[in-house]
Amino acid sequence: MTTLADPVPGGRPGDVERATALGGELAGRGVHGVVLAYVDTAGIGRVKTVPTARLASTAAWGVGMSPVFDTFLANDSVATTDVLGSPDGDLRLYPDLDRLVVLAGQPGWAWAPVDRITQDGARHPGCSRTFLRRIVAEAAERHGLTFKAAVEVEWTVARGDAPGDTFVPAATGPAYGAARQIELGDFTAGLLAACAAQGIDVEQVHPEYAAGQFEISVGALDPVAAADLSVLVRQTVRAVAGRHGLKVSFAPAVVGQGVGNGGHVHLSAWHAGVNLHSGGAGRHGMTARAESFTAGVLAHLPALTAVTAPSPASYLRLRPSQWAGVFTAWGLETRETALRVVKGTAGLRDRAANLEIKPVDLAANPYLAIGSLIVAGLDGLTSSAALPEETTGDPARLGEVEAAARGVRRLPDSLERAVEEFRADDVLRTALGPVLADAVIAVRLAEAASVAGLDDDRVAAAYRWKY
Ligand code: GLU
Ligand code: MG
Repeated sequence: MTTLADPVPGGRPGDVERATALGGELAGRGVHGVVLAYVDTAGIGRVKTVPTARLASTAAWGVGMSPVFDTFLANDSVATTDVLGSPDGDLRLYPDLDRLVVLAGQPGWAWAPVDRITQDGARHPGCSRTFLRRIVAEAAERHGLTFKAAVEVEWTVARGDAPGDTFVPAATGPAYGAARQIELGDFTAGLLAACAAQGIDVEQVHPEYAAGQFEISVGALDPVAAADLSVLVRQTVRAVAGRHGLKVSFAPAVVGQGVGNGGHVHLSAWHAGVNLHSGGAGRHGMTARAESFTAGVLAHLPALTAVTAPSPASYLRLRPSQWAGVFTAWGLETRETALRVVKGTAGLRDRAANLEIKPVDLAANPYLAIGSLIVAGLDGLTSSAALPEETTGDPARLGEVEAAARGVRRLPDSLERAVEEFRADDVLRTALGPVLADAVIAVRLAEAASVAGLDDDRVAAAYRWKY
C-alpha cells in the first residue's frame, strides 16, 4: 500500500537514513543516476535526474522544478491560468522511495515517481500524484473504502530507421497474430526480462489489433501504485524498444483513421478486504454499492472524458465500433460500451471482479484519470445512484429513439466538447480543486487551438511521437 503521507522539508522520519542506505546499495549495483518522474497536465512524462550520491539529500530537501509545467502543452509551449503558466516560482520534487526501481532497460539508472510540494513545505495544488493520494485517503476516511486499479498499456511499435516523423510499423503480421509475435519476439522477450527484473507483475503481453500494435497488462495494485506503474511500464517499453532499434508510440492514434491505442483502467472498490464487485445480490454479482459506484462513473463519463481523453488525437481514437467505448452504457464483458463489467472466472471472482473503463488513453495523466474516476464512482455511491439497464452488443446499432430511452449518449466527439462537459461538472471540478481544474481547462483548450483546422492525418502526426 502506498504511503499516503505528504513529503516534508528535511524528510519524513527515517527517509534520509533509508535514502542513504539505498544510495549506497544502488551505487554498488552500478546505478549512476535516479530519474525523478512525474506526469504533467497534458499527459507528458517530465523528469529531473540526480546522481545516485545525491539521493539522500533529495529525500531530505527535494530538487527544484518550475510549476510552469502544469500548463505545458504536448508541443512544449505554455498555456496560462490565473495562477499557473508564469515563469515565476519553484517547487520541490520528492521521490517516493517505496517505488524506487533499478531500471533494467536503462543500465546505470534507477527511477522513482515524485510528489511536488512548495518551497514552504505545503502541498502543491497542481500536483496530480498528491491529488490521487488525497482522494484515496479521503475514500478510506469517509467511506471505509480502498481500491484496486490497473492500467492496460497499448502501444504501436515502429521501425526506428524510418525517415523523419513518418510511421512505418515494425511488424506486418495480423492482429493477435503468431507471425507478429515472432517478428518482434526478441523485443518482447527483452521487455518481459526487464519487467521481471523490475518486479513488475506482468499478466500478458500480446500483439493487438492495429498495425504494429501490442499490449501489456499488469496485476492490480492500490490506485497510486497503479498509476506509478503505468508510467514505469511505458518508460520500460520505450527503453527496451530503443535497444532493439525500434520506436514506440503510446499516442491515442498514430494515424488518422482506424483503431487506436487505449489505456483502459480497471477499478474495483473494496470494504474491509471484501471486493464490492463480487458476491452481491445485484446484477452479475455486484453489491448495491458497486452498482451505485458504476452508476456514478457512468453519469460523469462525458465530463471525465476531458481528463481521460485529453488530446486532440484522443478523438481520432474515440470512434464507434473500435472497442474504445464511446457510449455512456455498461455491459457484461461488452467491448463497445464505455464501461465493461468484468465478472471474472468462476473460482476467482472475489479477487478478480472489477469495472473496466474504456474511454481512457495514454495521453491521460494516470493520477488525474484514476483519481477522477474514483471521485465519480464515490459520487454515485454516496447518492445510492441507480445503475440503468445493461446494454448488450454494440450501442452504435441502437436507433436514436432506443438510445435516448435508455439514456445512452455518445461521448464528446471533440476535446472542446469534452471541456464544455467538464466545466459543467461541479463534482469533478471541486474534487480537483480550482488550480488543477483550471489547468485542465486551459491546457485542453490550448491543445485544441494548436491543431485547429488540421485534418485527421495531420492531427495524428502532430501527437504521434509526443506520448
Ligand atoms: N485498442 C482499443 C482501444 O483503443 C482496445 C482494444 C481492447 O479492447 O483491448 O481502446
Ligand atoms: Mg487491448
